[in-house]
Amino acid sequence: GIKCGIVGLPNVGKSTLFNALTAAEIPAENYPFCTIDPNVGVVQVPDPRLQAIADIVKPQKILPTTMEFVDIAGLVAGASKGEGLGNQFLAHIRETDAITMVVRCFEDDDVTHVDGRIDPIADIETIGTELALADLDTVEKAIQRTQKIAKSGDKDARSRLVILERLKNHLDEGLPVRSMDLSDDDRLAIRDFHLLTAKPMMYIANVDESGFDNNPHLDAVRERAQAEGAQVVPVCAALEAEIAQLPEEEQGEFLSDAGMDEPGLNRVIRAGYRLLGLETYFTAGEKEVRAWTVKAGSTAPKAAAVIHTDFEKGFIRAEVVAYDDFIACGGEQGAKDAGKWRLEGKEYIVQEGDIIHFRFNV
Ligand code: GDP
Repeated sequence: GIKCGIVGLPNVGKSTLFNALTAAEIPAENYPFCTIDPNVGVVQVPDPRLQAIADIVKPQKILPTTMEFVDIAGLVAGASKGEGLGNQFLAHIRETDAITMVVRCFEDDDVTHVDGRIDPIADIETIGTELALADLDTVEKAIQRTQKIAKSGDKDARSRLVILERLKNHLDEGLPVRSMDLSDDDRLAIRDFHLLTAKPMMYIANVDESGFDNNPHLDAVRERAQAEGAQVVPVCAALEAEIAQLPEEEQGEFLSDAGMDEPGLNRVIRAGYRLLGLETYFTAGEKEVRAWTVKAGSTAPKAAAVIHTDFEKGFIRAEVVAYDDFIACGGEQGAKDAGKWRLEGKEYIVQEGDIIHFRFNV
């Protein structure tokens, strides 16, 4: 699956957040292909559009789509040199598609900080340095290998060498590959190196219940993130853990007492989903109304494959209604009457919120 890794220094609240995210148990029969790994959590993506569609279709079941978070423990200063869990940590993070960095923006004398003080910017730099050093190591090894091949006159190797040297200079300055100006061809040429700092990244600022406003730590993280073009999601992990443990019928009251209209985790999940470059389409039948996840830019047959590979192989056409039209017209028949119902072919690029019925051969 497509995974978002959670990283951060020890004691910043990663596990607290991960446990809260995965507390809602997902019925296994609905998601039979999910791997069972204690560090990987399958999380339902909250989406109010599902209920709006269901209000029209009145299905027996409503099924949200899911995404995966991975709790990646073990990052300490020196990880790239094998300190702590070192290499193991780096191998796990290499397998993720995007990175969520949890930074501590709460004061609590009972929770020790590895460096003895609360300084989220220093933490961000510590982690950034480890990731950049790991990439530098990867790139330097690649340069050595590529030089040998280039000597024999291989043209591809020569042009790859040019990109690798640029990467090296950038990383040498402690900067992430993410901030480099790379062409699509460059990106393709370096894709197989799985560079850590090339992955999309966002910050989760773990604050105290009272730390959402007038919090200089949070302000500092926001300023830093803005300079990087990254997103910040402030959340109180400890509070989220409490909410997640409550029975569902008590959650609403707890939230309104705390002045919240939904759990903060919803913001984390949605931000992670966007960070991974994912989009949602829906299927709406009397049996079930269901949300499905595709990579943004997927064609209709690729989107059909998410439901079943046979749907892709036997793809004939997709019947499509845009979400807004579906709601405004009161469902499929209304959309047809209003001329908002379309038949799309193999080349169609699925749009966010499309309500689709696939026609296929078996
Ligand atoms: P990890 O090492 O990053 O996984 O951190 P943990 O999730 O184990 O949290 C470390 C400690 O910080 C635990 O004692 C948590 O209860 C505490 N903690 C986590 N989030 C918060 C928070 O938002 N506020 C406060 N005061 N403590 C927190």
